[in-house]
Amino acid sequence: MTTYKKPIPTITPELRPFFTAARNRQLVVQRCTACAAYRFPAREICSNCLSTTAEWVPVCGRGEVFSFNVMHQVYHPGFADDVPYAVVVVKLEEGVKMISNLVGVKPHDIRIGMSVRVVFEDISDEVTLPKFVPA
Ligand code: ZN
Repeated sequence: MTTYKKPIPTITPELRPFFTAARNRQLVVQRCTACAAYRFPAREICSNCLSTTAEWVPVCGRGEVFSFNVMHQVYHPGFADDVPYAVVVVKLEEGVKMISNLVGVKPHDIRIGMSVRVVFEDISDEVTLPKFVPA
């Protein structure tokens, strides 16, 4: 894992619950404790009711490709061996959208609406990234 060459996310106090859950192979998002709306990315204020209270709750990890882009250019040397690779926006069954990678499928085979499920990749001793594979 020490050979990981790509940028590693900084775990801020606000995001620690997300990364702790990912380490344990669980996908979590914030849910407003006032109106129960799901929130992701994490933020301080609910866009539905403006409440500032929230909790982290597990989600099912299933969803569909909402949008995607295939990267052909090497913008960071850590990705040189991966091009072309797909960056996807996954719409989870709970309704929130998550930017991630779709792995286990060739980029030209990706379709909007394709069913996907989460998988987890340990990239360092502390960080685990949720990624998606075709369901
Ligand atoms: Zn709310």
